[in-house]
Amino acid sequence: MQRILLLLVEDNPADIRLVKEMLDEIGASEVQLRSVGSVSEAGAKLTAEPFDAVLLDLTLPDGRGLETLEKIRGSAADRPVIVLTGLGDDRVALRAVQDGAQDYLVKGQFDGRTLLKSVRYAIERHRAEIVERERRSLESALGAMDQLLAVLGHELRTPLASLRLLSEYMLKHEAKIPSEYGRYLHSINGEVVRMTDLVNNLLEAARLDSGVSQWQWSDVDAHKVCADALELLHPLLDGTRVTLGMNIDPPDLHFSGDPAAIRRLLVNLGSNAIKYTKQGRIDFSCRRIDRSGEPWIEIAVKDTGRGIPDGVARRLGTAFAVNAGVTGSSDTGGTGLGLAICKGIVAVHGGWLSVASEVGKGSTFTATLRADLTGPEPLPPDLKIIREAAT
Ligand code: ADP
Repeated sequence: MQRILLLLVEDNPADIRLVKEMLDEIGASEVQLRSVGSVSEAGAKLTAEPFDAVLLDLTLPDGRGLETLEKIRGSAADRPVIVLTGLGDDRVALRAVQDGAQDYLVKGQFDGRTLLKSVRYAIERHRAEIVERERRSLESALGAMDQLLAVLGHELRTPLASLRLLSEYMLKHEAKIPSEYGRYLHSINGEVVRMTDLVNNLLEAARLDSGVSQWQWSDVDAHKVCADALELLHPLLDGTRVTLGMNIDPPDLHFSGDPAAIRRLLVNLGSNAIKYTKQGRIDFSCRRIDRSGEPWIEIAVKDTGRGIPDGVARRLGTAFAVNAGVTGSSDTGGTGLGLAICKGIVAVHGGWLSVASEVGKGSTFTATLRADLTGPEPLPPDLKIIREAAT
């Protein structure tokens, strides 16, 4: 039985005795009763000892009626309070409950069992209230984080877009500049593309987490999204010896979905493939498959890079948690947002993401999606991207 340290704030010795006798009578040995006769003494006691609940008479030498409750709640901090009222004081008792008391008992109208039940109930309800309060404050902190990410993302996107345009314009006229400047320019352009990617992923994560459906559901032209993704990835190839390939089967493959989201999926998988493949091939493929007579789409990004060890592969797709041992080396550190977002995008398209990888040989990430969904599927709660990271 859980011990209960109960503080009785009562100045009438007969009432104190009565409460003690009631508890003795029912053999409530788990309750340790202490009593004080005034609000000020109660304040001192509550600071000194970890009381579980307070039983409060509303008429004390230094407090009358609801004012007593107010004073005690100031010093009782987060302890549940049960008020003791006189016969006919129902209005005061109800006001006390509205003002934060957990319960009230009318003097002369309760016995040991009612008292014990009321104390236990008050403690439990108070605990539940604390948990709920904490949950709400956590929710609002996470909501604020989503908002911060969204605002930050938007603020960064504009200057990055200008930088990207400028560096690409200069690269077009590369022949006119000294060769070492050309090298720097390629680096600048690559970094800008990487930063843009990160910002886009932050925005996408906030969008997925907001739960607001902002999906632009329409026809997806597989060839077009793959080609767009490859073009976006091109600047990242600088400094690698990697060839990119693309295979669409059938060549005029179309399906239902959000084209921008599918492009993001490909950009995320593709930029990882480039990041971890210093030389070799990266192939994008998109094909229609049949699963139990239903049309599905399989999008795969296959690389011949360093591969992913088993233990690491199991933890992929958890935002911000990835660097805790997953990324492994500082040269390739990241946020872990990329695959978390891919998982979200794939889930919204009614499918799943899988990975097959062999260390030293390469990895293949495969997204299997429904081809004929008429709108986005709701994102499962366990896929909440930013929230997932916070646990
Ligand atoms: P980030 O790259 O920002 O850390 P991701 O979620 O995109 O986040 O990837 C998580 C981790 O998975 C990477 O840090 C890397 O360790 C591993 N990874 C992802 N794709 C590949 C790949 N194609 N080859 C090797 N490792 C990969």
